Amino acid sequence: MSINQGDAYLRIDHVSKSFGTFEALTNVTLEIYAGEFVCFLGPSGCGKTTLLRAIAGLDIQTSGRIFQGGRDISALPPSQRDFGIVFQSYALFPNLSVADNVAYGLVSTRRPKAEVEGRVRELLTLVGLGGQEQKFPSQLSGGQQQRVALARALAMSPGLLLLDEPLSALDARVRQHLRSELKELQRKLKVTTIMVTHDQEEALAIADRIVVMNHGVIEQVGTPLDIYRHPGSAFVADFVGHMNFLPVERVAADRVRFGSFEFTAPVNGNQDATATLCVRPEDIQIRNVIPGQDNSLKATIDHMEFLGSFCRAELVVNGGRHLKADFSINAMRDLSLEPGQEILIALPADRLRLFRGDAHV
Ligand code: ATP
Repeated sequence: MSINQGDAYLRIDHVSKSFGTFEALTNVTLEIYAGEFVCFLGPSGCGKTTLLRAIAGLDIQTSGRIFQGGRDISALPPSQRDFGIVFQSYALFPNLSVADNVAYGLVSTRRPKAEVEGRVRELLTLVGLGGQEQKFPSQLSGGQQQRVALARALAMSPGLLLLDEPLSALDARVRQHLRSELKELQRKLKVTTIMVTHDQEEALAIADRIVVMNHGVIEQVGTPLDIYRHPGSAFVADFVGHMNFLPVERVAADRVRFGSFEFTAPVNGNQDATATLCVRPEDIQIRNVIPGQDNSLKATIDHMEFLGSFCRAELVVNGGRHLKADFSINAMRDLSLEPGQEILIALPADRLRLFRGDAHV
């Protein structure tokens, strides 16, 4: 069956997975489109690797079905599914050369020698390791070994590329470099890709869509911008990026009270008497805030951290509640901000989110 760009290529249909009495995945339903780069993101133990392994057939789900390219693969062993996989630990054969590692799958399907050699050269050039064919894994850096693992995963031109924390064993600089190369490569090859990560910055940087998971369920699926700007729950708001949480009481459909301050807040769904108001540090305004302006409040700078391109201030509001606020270096200099200083800040209504109850407060 042919799948066009934009069609659902992988369909996960009400998949649950238990280990003994522990349910690691609960009723997960998800569609992944041809050519997409999707990240499974969530804290340790949330079930992202279990879901990836179920897609690969390395674990079989307890219930539910999985379709790839219109084919029901739910009960197929890994060898009959169409994917390439890269693990965190490079998992190369230490006694085989780089070329033989990449060629492994091709040789076992008895392709002609010249074709295998040509394909290995092509793949190694693609991952930036042209000319390294005869080296052994132990002679390569971690980043280079992971490139070999990637070339090996791509050797059979799989319909699906599965990446299980492929960058997390690498140091920060190599990780960032390889991350952008991986994205570029995926864009070029248009191979449908799923990457497991617990690193929200990595997911935001690389994914077309992010699947945020928590305790074996999907919390939210969306583009990086969607997830960041419109988190659907306090968990997502807290897990992706930095977020301030304030406990508020509702005084009207679009008004909430925080201590002695009243704010205009978004009207969303519930109208509970108490709620949690969220605002990102970078959305807190400091310039040109006028006393009495809607959503303005007084704050005292507790301390400031210089973070290179901006400054993160820890503010104290309303007699003890702490808020993080990011200010530009220019604002910091122009307003001569310093610890102990009392300032006026504003929380723009269109940048606030309201969640139910007292989550994360
Ligand atoms: P991490 O980032 O730490 O790998 P994860 O989100 O990938 O976390 P999983 O590896 O999918 O989490 O594990 C989900 C839950 O299922 C965890 O609580 C884990 O202990 C449990 N689990 C996973 N595999 C098994 C297994 N083979 N037997 C028993 N429990 C398991």
